[in-house]
Amino acid sequence: MQTADAIVVGGGPAGSTCAWKLREAGLDVLVLDRAAFPRTKLCAGWVTPEALQDLELDPGDYPHSIMTFDNLHVHWKVLGAKPATRQFSIRRYEFDDFLLRRAGTRLLQHKVRDIQRDHGDYVVDDAFRSKYLVGAGGTACPVYRALFSERAPRNGALQTATYEHEFAYDWKDPACHLWFFEGGLPGYAWYVPKANGYVNVGLGGMAEQLKHKGGHLREHWAKFVARLKTRGLVDYDAYDPSGYSYYVRGEVDAVSDGNAYIVGDAVGLATRDMCEGIGPAVRSGLLAARSIVTGESYSLDGIGKLSGNGFPSRLLERQFVRH
Ligand SMILES: Cc1cc2nc3c(=O)[nH]c(=O)nc-3n(C[C@H](O)[C@H](O)[C@H](O)COP(=O)(O)OP(=O)(O)OC[C@H]3O[C@@H](n4cnc5c(N)ncnc54)[C@H](O)[C@@H]3O)c2cc1C
Repeated sequence: MQTADAIVVGGGPAGSTCAWKLREAGLDVLVLDRAAFPRTKLCAGWVTPEALQDLELDPGDYPHSIMTFDNLHVHWKVLGAKPATRQFSIRRYEFDDFLLRRAGTRLLQHKVRDIQRDHGDYVVDDAFRSKYLVGAGGTACPVYRALFSERAPRNGALQTATYEHEFAYDWKDPACHLWFFEGGLPGYAWYVPKANGYVNVGLGGMAEQLKHKGGHLREHWAKFVARLKTRGLVDYDAYDPSGYSYYVRGEVDAVSDGNAYIVGDAVGLATRDMCEGIGPAVRSGLLAARSIVTGESYSLDGIGKLSGNGFPSRLLERQFVRH
């Protein structure tokens, strides 16, 4: 049996941030992730200045692909706007690996299946034991499933469905484009160029609304990539998109139970206007670590429900979250 002060299940931004701060405070931390890092994470890779600040990361010091956008090209029906805002794009393949290595904790590739309580400790798969347990395993987090799902059931109206592909591409347009509600999509589509010759294109919306309207993401995808071609943005024939689902922020009150915590997508913390999840994942990792280290209670009060950033946030929230 391997032991640690704290076991963190999942090494994405939520888990690596929490592990980093626990290690800094002197705890012996073990991160378990089912994937071998660097690993692919479906994500447009948009990061806000606030998230980088929480990560104590100066964009100029980040050693991998990063691009800065001083405005966003927002399209809504025939309207277009370029709100001034400072935002960044990174590649999750690099970013998550960088953060996890920086955390400097023990890391094991292991898919967590079973969690038991034993004499005040948590025992994972009969192989790992710790006093503290942090569930950072994303939407399918086994800690959420074992310890929180009954007290904090997920609300189907807050579930997103997404489709995306990131690939090497010699892009010409260095702007980040967002198309809202195009072709009846209850969400938005994006073109996000990345440094060092990559681009991420994708779309997403609220799953229930998609079902209600009878549309399928695959159909929206086919139309979207055809439009990227006619717009002269991406001319590519080898698309291989994948889908993933996560939850935007609802009324969640059970995020800790004894010495067990859940953070990031395991809770469902993405913003209700832009479905931004990296910043809330990082912030929740910080707050959970602070609670473990200081004994302060862990709550989501310090985590924004909206991205803001020049978007008509309330309007978007009303469109996305209907329940
Ligand atoms: C298509 C798409 C586009 C997005 N675009 C953006 C964007 O541009 N900007 C933004 O801010 N947010 C975006 N998001 C949301 C964002 O990706 C997530 O909110 C964020 O990754 C959450 O971080 P996390 O650490 O909670 O979870 P994750 O990053 O999902 O990490 C969870 C980790 O847990 C591991 N794991 C899972 N199950 C187990 C298990 N049983 N045992 C061990 N390990 C396990 C996984 O391998 C993974 O490494 C997007 C999401 C999608 C799907």
